[in-house]
Amino acid sequence: MRGLHSIAARIESGGRIDAAEAVTLWRHASDEELQRLAGLVRARYHDADRATYMVMRIINYTNVCVAQCDYCAFYVLPNQSGGYVLSRDEVFAKIDGLLEVGGDLVGFNGGFNPKLPLDYYCDLFASVRERYGERVEFYALTVAEFVFLADRAGLSYADAAARLRDAGVHWVTGGGSEILTEDFRARHAKFKYTVADYFDAQKAIVEAGLKTTATMVIGFDETLDERLEHLQRTRDFQDETGGLFSFLCWTYKPYGTAFGGREIEPREYWRHIALSRIFLDNVVHIRTSVLTQNEEAFRALDYGADDFDLPIEDEVTQKAGARIELDLEALLEVPRSLGYTVEYRRAERPALLA
Ligand code: SF4
Repeated sequence: MRGLHSIAARIESGGRIDAAEAVTLWRHASDEELQRLAGLVRARYHDADRATYMVMRIINYTNVCVAQCDYCAFYVLPNQSGGYVLSRDEVFAKIDGLLEVGGDLVGFNGGFNPKLPLDYYCDLFASVRERYGERVEFYALTVAEFVFLADRAGLSYADAAARLRDAGVHWVTGGGSEILTEDFRARHAKFKYTVADYFDAQKAIVEAGLKTTATMVIGFDETLDERLEHLQRTRDFQDETGGLFSFLCWTYKPYGTAFGGREIEPREYWRHIALSRIFLDNVVHIRTSVLTQNEEAFRALDYGADDFDLPIEDEVTQKAGARIELDLEALLEVPRSLGYTVEYRRAERPALLA
C-alpha cells in the first residue's frame, strides 16, 4: 500500500507520524511490519535484546470512593459496609512483605475517600520515607487521586504538589487516565475529573520537581480515534514538559463491574503497544502490563515495549479479574525464552529524580 510505504520510510528516517497516519498503520500494517517499525523506534533508546523490570506492590490504602466509575469493581461508597482505610502498621506490613520477595517499588492507589484529609496522605508518606529511606521508592498516588485531594483540601495543584514533595514524595504516577477524552469520561467516569483538569494537575506536578508517568487503559468501548486522541495528548504533554518517565498501557478487566463487557485479545494489545511505541517517539520507556496480560505481556517486548513490573498485589484489578502470578522466576523465564536479557531496574535512581 502506497501510504504505508511513505509512513514506514518516515519512521525509518527518524521522523514523526500524525494521528491519521497512525490510523493507516493500525488498519493496514501487518503484525510483522508493526513489530519492525516499533523496533526501530525502540532501538533509538534501548538495546534490542534487553528488557528491564521491577518487582512492585500496589497498596490500596482505601477502597472508599465517590467517583463511581462504571468500569470499576473495587470501590465501596462512603458509609456502605466493606469500606476500609489501612492503618500505618498495615501499610508497613505490606512494604515489609514486598522487601522480603526482593521488590522495592510501592504504588499507593485508592479511592476518592472524602473522609481522608491531606494530612493523612502527608503523614503516611513521610512515615514511609522515614522508615524505609531509599530502600523502597513509592509512587504516591495517581494524578486522578491528586486532583481529588487538592480539591478537597482547597489547594491549588501547585500547593498540593509542594505539600507532597515536602512529605518526601518523588513520584505521582499518571494513573487514573484510562482514555483521556472528554467523551469517554462523560460516558464512564463523569464524577472523576475532566481531561483538562488531569493535564493541569500533571503539569503542576512536573513544575513542582516531581516525576510522573503516563498510562492508558484499552478495551472498554473506546474508538480508535479516542485511542489516538489519548496518544496525541500524551505526546503533546511530553513535548511541552518533558516530565513523563514512561508510558504504561494495560487492558480493561470487565468482571464484576457495572459496565461489564469482554476482554480484548492479546494480539490487539500487542499491536496497540507497537502503535504507542511508534507514536510516542518522545517517551523513553514503553511498559507492558504483566498485571493484566500475565505471560502474554512479554510478547509486547517484540512490539516495542522495553520494561515491565512484576506486581505482587493490586486489589483494584484483582477485584475485576486480574490474576497475580507470584512465582517471579517462572515469569522471568518467559521473556528469556523470547531471547531477552532481563535486568532489574532499581527504583531508587537519583538521576531519574533530578
Ligand atoms: S476507578 Fe478509582 S476513581 Fe473510579 S470508582 Fe474505582 S476507585 Fe474510584
